[in-house]
Amino acid sequence: MTDYDLIVIGAGAVGENVADYAHKRGLSVAIVEAELVGGECSYWACMPSKALLRSGHAVAAAKRVDGAEQAVTGDLDAAHVLARRNSFTSDWKDDSQVEWLDSADIALIRGHARITGPKTIEVEGETHTARAAVAVVTGSLHSLPDVPGLADAKPWGTREATSAQHVPESLLVIGGGVSGSELATAWASLGAKVTLVARHGLLGGMEPFAGELVADAMRELGIDVRTGVNPTRVDRDEHGLVTTTLDDGTTVVTSEVLAATGRSAHTADLGLEAVGLTPGDWLDVDDTMLVQGTDWLYAIGDVNHRVLLTHQGKYQARAAGEAIAARFQGTPLHTEPWGAHVATADHAAVPQVTFTDPEVASVGLTEAKAREQGLNVRAVEYELGSIAGAALQADGYSGRAKMVVDEDRGVVVGVTFVGQDVAEMLHAATVAVVGEVPVDRLWHAVPAYPTMNEIWLRLLETYGRPE
Ligand SMILES: Cc1cc2nc3c(=O)[nH]c(=O)nc-3n(C[C@H](O)[C@H](O)[C@H](O)COP(=O)(O)OP(=O)(O)OC[C@H]3O[C@@H](n4cnc5c(N)ncnc54)[C@H](O)[C@@H]3O)c2cc1C
Repeated sequence: MTDYDLIVIGAGAVGENVADYAHKRGLSVAIVEAELVGGECSYWACMPSKALLRSGHAVAAAKRVDGAEQAVTGDLDAAHVLARRNSFTSDWKDDSQVEWLDSADIALIRGHARITGPKTIEVEGETHTARAAVAVVTGSLHSLPDVPGLADAKPWGTREATSAQHVPESLLVIGGGVSGSELATAWASLGAKVTLVARHGLLGGMEPFAGELVADAMRELGIDVRTGVNPTRVDRDEHGLVTTTLDDGTTVVTSEVLAATGRSAHTADLGLEAVGLTPGDWLDVDDTMLVQGTDWLYAIGDVNHRVLLTHQGKYQARAAGEAIAARFQGTPLHTEPWGAHVATADHAAVPQVTFTDPEVASVGLTEAKAREQGLNVRAVEYELGSIAGAALQADGYSGRAKMVVDEDRGVVVGVTFVGQDVAEMLHAATVAVVGEVPVDRLWHAVPAYPTMNEIWLRLLETYGRPE
């Protein structure tokens, strides 16, 4: 039996941050990992998917600049793209991340952890207890939609779609969310003939024009985007071909099928029943990430189902790591909104980039969401292609921006940009939303000429300056 102040279950990016922040406050910390230190983001999600997309974006961007276009004389070299992707996952080895744990003085316990009672866990028959807290940072799992035949057809999940070592001749993507849209774009750019089917439009939950512009661009890339349809049956034949029947009566035959329709909580085999919680459920937490009804169990990252994004999980981890230490050491806890020990931004200012082409970069509330919350908002939109910086960035640049303003408080509560290279423009919007910068003051934040950030000026002009 080994004791630590804090035991973290799950060494994904989020778990590593909880461990690090608590340890920096003086706690002894152990982290338990059943697979690879670094978790989903490093090996089967953010990093490999963005690596698969980047080369296609670079070529497409060059082709949109006269003079550079003439220098692009061939197609993407898929083998090199896949090799570059492999390098970003360190060939699915976690040595460098283990080295980091060692250097940070965080003990690594390899194996599958189960909670056996308050502050007590078991890994491979060994019991470990925590003096302060146990943090569950086990993430989420790819979940398969309930389509007859799909499970037997050996579909790709997001793991297979981010780690495949060859380009399939053709691919059917089921699901038009962020992962489905990104992976459809990536594999199409690598030469696969891609069909994407989505129950509704693409990128639900975002401003409606985001999904519309991305769908238009995907079609231009050669992806067969079909919205308003559902698969009703999937069969893989003896030659390996997959036939998917859709509810509009059509069928699609492809080499592979990717189900990208959602995630479920990674809590089924975690021993939650030993402490009165339900296996398989997402864990409900307060703003310090403390599981409701406990004073020792924390749940951080995907597993609490607040926001399924690495950067937001890491933000929660910084707050929770500090909160765990403060509670253990009896130092003041700052749980007021925007205090050091709470993840307030989860409710008001989540930034997200969808790395399709065009990219979608958004933060805060959409207009619809703001109205649903009862805010008195006014929204303005502007064509990004009309900005001098955008015209220089790409010939025929087209894109769109929207700013949602809370009229009662005079502050921006949401921003969405859609267009090439908008990802790097997002942080200014995040600062404006988190800082609740008055719109009057934003007029004094002068965007450099000729950059695409001049969109801010045009949005403000469209909104109108108070008399
Ligand atoms: C295709 C795809 C692309 C994505 N792209 C982005 C992106 O660009 N940007 C972004 O911000 N987010 C992205 N995400 C989301 C992001 O991957 C997750 O939000 C993030 O990985 C969550 O981190 P986590 O640490 O909570 O969980 P995970 O990364 O899943 O880590 C959990 C860890 O816990 C371990 N574990 C689980 N149970 C146990 C147990 N009982 N005992 C021991 N260990 C256990 C697992 O092995 C795993 O290593 C993407 C997701 C997908 C699927």
